[in-house]
Amino acid sequence: MIRPPDDTHDPRLRSWVESANAPGHPFPVQNLPFGIFRRAGSRERPRVGVAIGDRILDVIACRRAAYLSGAAEPCDAPSLNRLLAAGQETWTTLRAELSQILRDGSYRAREMREREGDFLVPATEAELLLPAEIGDYTDFYASVHHATNVGSMFRPDNPLLPNYKHVPIGYHGRASSVVPSGTPVRRPNGQTKAPTAESPSFGPSRMLDYELEVGAFVGPGNPLGAAIPISEAEAHLFGVVLVNDWSARDIQGWEYQPLGPFLAKNFATTVSPWVVTMDALAPFRVPAAARPADDPSPLPYLSDGDNIERGGIALTLEVWLCTAAMRHRGEREVLLSRGGFAGMYWTLGQLLAHHASNGCNLRPGDLIASGTVSGPERGERGCLLELTWRGAEPLTLPDGETRRFLEDGDEVILRGWCEREGSVRIGLGECRGRIEPAV
Ligand code: MN
Repeated sequence: MIRPPDDTHDPRLRSWVESANAPGHPFPVQNLPFGIFRRAGSRERPRVGVAIGDRILDVIACRRAAYLSGAAEPCDAPSLNRLLAAGQETWTTLRAELSQILRDGSYRAREMREREGDFLVPATEAELLLPAEIGDYTDFYASVHHATNVGSMFRPDNPLLPNYKHVPIGYHGRASSVVPSGTPVRRPNGQTKAPTAESPSFGPSRMLDYELEVGAFVGPGNPLGAAIPISEAEAHLFGVVLVNDWSARDIQGWEYQPLGPFLAKNFATTVSPWVVTMDALAPFRVPAAARPADDPSPLPYLSDGDNIERGGIALTLEVWLCTAAMRHRGEREVLLSRGGFAGMYWTLGQLLAHHASNGCNLRPGDLIASGTVSGPERGERGCLLELTWRGAEPLTLPDGETRRFLEDGDEVILRGWCEREGSVRIGLGECRGRIEPAV
């Protein structure tokens, strides 16, 4: 079941961690996202943290002080995998307890504030690592606008393939190259062949792109051979992160037929460090995007009332770019696009149910990404391939620089947040990556 909001979402709640109460801060007490951190430059064992304002709460330190119950025990680990495996009941209990100890006026507030250094680490002093050990990473293609745009570049007469509106399209990505925000991204070398070239060549990609996506971390998962019904899909979704599925379009164009993406996409995938839980997203659930009347209905295994009524997420997503020249002059990044996640053709619940529908076993820590999030408007296109129409319509930046694809030194920053009347805005934070020259 998609969980309804509860008292942890009460917009009147404030935290005794003052910075969490600043309007628009991504991590107020209503959010409570989970991540893995250690003090920067230290050799400490990585541990589970919860972002609160500009601080990180050390979850296991709170457990040792008996401020949290046994629900926090799975956090005694260097990754979120044990917590992901523990399941919905544990997640909800732990969230309620964290909300209690972090809210202003709670009976713990004074005690914790006096011993703040035992429980809180300033975010600026922390290094944020991958949230989970990712066993498998799957990338979908769930935006019909992205699929139509990309399809029409390659097949103007027949942009959307006949399967698209029936079956969620995806491919198995590579988990080993998923990296946390801030990790430099090396321009890949690869085999390419320009349409006019007689034969292929090998060298640095000249059509390097980002893809704005949302990723979901899988919770308990399913045994091999057993499916996950759509009605239970949400209980297997722990939470979401921003995902940048870096893509080398020239390598992709030459290699993708007949088996799909391979080296064009597995050289790096960046994720944001804070996992915003499905519980935190409860106030921002919206109906699954309405389909045009003449589109086919999803098959029964991909449809249930809960998914139709609340399967979507009202999440706003942005892409920002800072070039080397801009950085050199001390200028801020510029906005490239802004779009919404609620318009996706398939919901996260549908993607998960489909993935397990053949008996494929999903495991705690698996990462499922949505595919590029694009909307119908030009300013909602989630990659340069679409924004520049494969390079045919270069972008002109405010300083006069132009971009068809990414240049060395470019830094791409993804941001996301949820906002709704009557609720406190929560954010996903940032997902950053800067392009380094090819080897
Ligand atoms: Mn992708």
